[in-house]
Amino acid sequence: MHVAKAYPTNYVQEDGILANTADWIRKFGTVPFFVAGPTAWSKAGPQISQSLHENGLGFHLELFAGHCSDQELERLLPKVPPSVDIIVGVGGGQCMDTAKLLANRLKLPVLNVSTLASTCAASAAQSIIYTPEHVFVRTEQFDAAPVAVLVEPAVIRDAPVRYLTAGIADTFVKWYEAMPLNAGKAMNAKTKAGLKMAELIRDLLFEYSDQAIVDCEKGETSEALRQVIDANILLSGLVGGLGRHTCASSGAHSIHYGMTVIPEMHHALHGELVGYGLLCQFKLEGKSDSEIVDFMKFYQKINLPISLFDLGMTDIREDVLHQAAHHACAPGRSIHNLPFPVSEENVYQAILDTHRLGESVKHA
Ligand SMILES: [Zn+2]
Repeated sequence: MHVAKAYPTNYVQEDGILANTADWIRKFGTVPFFVAGPTAWSKAGPQISQSLHENGLGFHLELFAGHCSDQELERLLPKVPPSVDIIVGVGGGQCMDTAKLLANRLKLPVLNVSTLASTCAASAAQSIIYTPEHVFVRTEQFDAAPVAVLVEPAVIRDAPVRYLTAGIADTFVKWYEAMPLNAGKAMNAKTKAGLKMAELIRDLLFEYSDQAIVDCEKGETSEALRQVIDANILLSGLVGGLGRHTCASSGAHSIHYGMTVIPEMHHALHGELVGYGLLCQFKLEGKSDSEIVDFMKFYQKINLPISLFDLGMTDIREDVLHQAAHHACAPGRSIHNLPFPVSEENVYQAILDTHRLGESVKHA
């Protein structure tokens, strides 16, 4: 069965949108419970609080403890008073994933205020759950999508540019992950739509990423930045939403999940690991070194990691990389969506070969 989902229900990227937060909440609920990242709340909280205060809307607030985990869910659940009828996430990917998980358990609507453009978490009807140590556990799919996503471009622009870059990687990989799953196969209309969307955002990001990053660093909310924000937060989620299993993630995301077992990489962002995972997927697919080097040059231009050293490892230990490969290839992982058999040994070798190639590019 192919259940297509177009989400979120509403998406607004607009200057000054935070001043309308109360209006948007009121469309779906009357007693909001906020889950907000501490940094996000320090940036967006004053405008949101003012909007709620001016509209006479009381609210509950709990600061997010840092990881979307079952433990964080259990901590938050008893804090939600019975009168609450809408959950609001304010922050980055893991915070909004936690808000969605909480809302799903309580069967309440969720509205997200995305303060980073680092993933499609704001929009997607799913959450990625990690351990409190940030090791990947599972992805959970929901029947209900966020009722609204609000994006204030100035907040995204003023966040460290690294988050935008990570979001660019997490978004352009969609095409390279989904395309091999459909090669030579008959596609239904939903799959075709998902792939077209993946192709569109790939082209859009290749066109606008450099400029968006420059503008972000200059503190300018330019058209390039707005296009990248829409691609990263809204359009990205539609690929898997429309295409579902036929436009799902594959090698890059699985290799990212595998690498979350490496303690030195716990400060690497989701998109940074996924971007590196894509280079490893290219190795698995047998792409030539020169094709991969071309990609690495694009990565360097926008400051994405191209070696394990860039991702935080200080010495390359075979046992740790074998563990990562083992975790990447666990039964049910999306790497097995690739149209050829993939073994742990292949993945281990791909991670290592990509690192060596990346270091050689850096020192060329
Ligand atoms: Zn992702």
